[in-house]
Amino acid sequence: MISPDPVLAVKSADDLYAEVYDDYRRYVNPPLARVMKVSGSPVEVRAEGATIYDQKGKAYLDFAGGYGVFTLGHRHPKVVAAVKAQLDLMALSGKTMFNPVLGRASRKLAERAPGDLEISFFCNSGAEAVEGAIKLARAATKRHKVVATHNAFHGKTLGALSASGREYFRDQYRPLLAGIEHVPYGDSSVLKEALSDAAAFVVEPVQGEGGVIVPPLGYLRAVRDACDASGALFIADEVQTGLGRLGMWFGCDRDGVVPDVMTLAKGLSGGVMPVGAYIARAGCWNAAYAQAPLMHTSTFGGSEIACAAVIAALEVLEEEDLVRNARERGAQLLAGARALATEYPALIADARGLGLLVGVELTNEGYGGSIIPEMLKMGVTAAWTLNLQRVIRLEPPLIVTAEEVERALAALRAGLATAYAKLGSL
Ligand code: PLP
Repeated sequence: MISPDPVLAVKSADDLYAEVYDDYRRYVNPPLARVMKVSGSPVEVRAEGATIYDQKGKAYLDFAGGYGVFTLGHRHPKVVAAVKAQLDLMALSGKTMFNPVLGRASRKLAERAPGDLEISFFCNSGAEAVEGAIKLARAATKRHKVVATHNAFHGKTLGALSASGREYFRDQYRPLLAGIEHVPYGDSSVLKEALSDAAAFVVEPVQGEGGVIVPPLGYLRAVRDACDASGALFIADEVQTGLGRLGMWFGCDRDGVVPDVMTLAKGLSGGVMPVGAYIARAGCWNAAYAQAPLMHTSTFGGSEIACAAVIAALEVLEEEDLVRNARERGAQLLAGARALATEYPALIADARGLGLLVGVELTNEGYGGSIIPEMLKMGVTAAWTLNLQRVIRLEPPLIVTAEEVERALAALRAGLATAYAKLGSL
């Protein structure tokens, strides 16, 4: 049930829009406010399942999905109930006593994660998880060099940004973290040389923000072998790909490999609490921190409310068989996107993806400016990817139905028709 909105009870939809736009323009991000206004962004007021409602009560199928956050849709009742119940007991950790919910969430994650991944550190975002993983690798190996991939996206804090691969985001922050090198993504022939003396290789099983780039099958197996040969830790950044998004539990499952450290965030609480984590093999964790339990900490990390959400979210993924749904609906979505690529070869260069992470690569970045607003008019959200803006990403909740996938494809078709009609003037 959608609850009545207290703001809209006292304010008209137009007044609310004016207020929010003015707040953005003055206090949040002036240039972003202008871009969002031009693209016709409404005000998000409430959300449920795969749907967001705006200030006028119009419903939008959420195919941007918070860039992969809403694996369970918005406000999954079981997760919301778990968080509400936890709020009545204890919200944040006092830190000086054992936190039972953190213990349970860590155990649950270890039971679900591949192979012998066992010890978790909980934080509040994906970038923090990557920071923690890189620190762990340096501490465990007593080595310095960290190898990442061109076009990677690992977050925008300084360390995670140093591992990320798009110059636009990096340039003005130099000097970045020392000792980070980049190699081409998906190319296993460069790994042996690059990983000699490295503390870690950090890599996404599928590059999400890089434009939904799926590496060749066997790439992660080659990464595992190269890390074993060199002594570098294999850090799989599964912030976007993990927990069912790709139609399998983790992106590493595609090659049946177990990394030394895995980072998670986005869908970790099913879209209810901001939470990230890394999970490491006990041997790696002990090599880093057996004598230094407080070397890497976070005040808010591992809070009771976040961990309660994590436990409930992992249960829902299993109970509702959402990994299978992601696989089946993902196949439907990709087939539909590929059919549109055949229909509009002048506009679409490629449609690709795995599970419910689908990228539609346009032949020209400018077309997105017609397609995405038109989809919005049709009641479907979509977004481009951060490192490759000519790729429109379709990343709906894993609860999405076959009918909802068809509606999103119809909206994409309408967006393409609009862009096609403007072709001459674009
Ligand atoms: N790693 C990957 C693979 C991501 O896709 C992202 C965000 O898109 C991050 C890390 C950073 O996560 P956050 O924005 O929560 O810091």
